[in-house]
Amino acid sequence: MAADPYGWLDKSLAALHRAHRYRSVQIIDGMAGPTVQRRGQTLVNFASNDYLGLASDPRLAEAAIAAIGTYGTGSSGSRLLSGHRELHQELETAIARLKGTEDAIVFSSGYLANLGAIAALVGTPDLILGDAYNHSSLKAGGKVSGATTLDYRHGDGADLETLLANHRDRYRRCLITTDSVFSMDGDLCPLPEILDLAATYDAMVLVDEAHGTGVFGSRGSGAIEHLGCAGRPLVTVGTLSKALGSLGGYVAGSGSLIDFLRNRAPSWIYTTGLSPADTAAALAAVRLIEAEPQRRTALWHNVSTLRQSLSQVLKNGNTTTPLRLLASESPIICLETSSAAAAIAASRHLQDAGVWVAAVRPPTVPTSRLRITLMATHSRDHLTCLINGLQSWCRT
Ligand SMILES: *Cc1c(COP(=O)(O)O)cnc(C)c1O
Repeated sequence: MAADPYGWLDKSLAALHRAHRYRSVQIIDGMAGPTVQRRGQTLVNFASNDYLGLASDPRLAEAAIAAIGTYGTGSSGSRLLSGHRELHQELETAIARLKGTEDAIVFSSGYLANLGAIAALVGTPDLILGDAYNHSSLKAGGKVSGATTLDYRHGDGADLETLLANHRDRYRRCLITTDSVFSMDGDLCPLPEILDLAATYDAMVLVDEAHGTGVFGSRGSGAIEHLGCAGRPLVTVGTLSKALGSLGGYVAGSGSLIDFLRNRAPSWIYTTGLSPADTAAALAAVRLIEAEPQRRTALWHNVSTLRQSLSQVLKNGNTTTPLRLLASESPIICLETSSAAAAIAASRHLQDAGVWVAAVRPPTVPTSRLRITLMATHSRDHLTCLINGLQSWCRT
């Protein structure tokens, strides 16, 4: 009998089901925003990274439509070979202004920005030291680069220093990588300490502001600003697809860094330029982040309101369905469950109560949890709906 070289696929899928790690995509209807429609049911949306509600802002849509009218739908080639639009340059200038850097470069996604920047900055003679909880794209960038990669314990500057002291000498260049706001926990990296260690040990630092940009800092520049590190030498990476409500990614930093990436980042050189619509929408979003700080104020108000109510709910919860609040300093708030099955059951229970909250499980994270993300456009009633759903789950 001939062997089936693809037979392992079904076996692997069956193993995922048994471990409660199988994932599938749900279809949602209607405009992006604080509520979504699913099979005719309205759900309050706590599963989106659209922190400021910009993905449904008519001004972004108008900018995107105007750009399509002027330039068409596709960018039609890589920017080095086919040229780029003034829009691309305007967006890069606007990002550099928001970040307080000399220059910036936009990629087709945040994932590709990390792959391109890391692979350009380090290679086989070099060392990457990364936070153990770093986003998948930072880890993938390390693999693509060919550099030796070691993880330090999550948020642990002392462990990072031990690795630097023990290993730095044997490598040419060293790059420390970290999320600024950890995407599946919501806590912040100890950036001032990381930058001090980097200066001592002659290391570069790459900070992923995917969940920081537009959310943190008095100007909305990000967690680097919030942590008092604006202007210090580092490589900033981010996305246009979360608080900026569009699609794409970027790297911001010194003029030499950006010029070097244009010459050496394969995921920028060998891929088609960002579409005119996405570029124009992101440019409109950067301008709104600067012009409308009240969106950030509304978001942080929701964060403190939810935190206060949550502590009440968890205090009164029983022990058969325990939820544990993880340390968070951001609009990402996670409730750890006792198992992957419990995370799925809690998420289903909330869906029945009209609330959409994602269950995040290994291997994405070490322990299963409900991941709640807040938006500036959630109303008091939306938050009440979530609290009521969690309260009834805690009593099951
Ligand atoms: C979402 C995310 C990315 C990827 O950004 P995309 O633009 O969605 O590809 C990178 N890093 C972190 C920390 C993220 O959360």
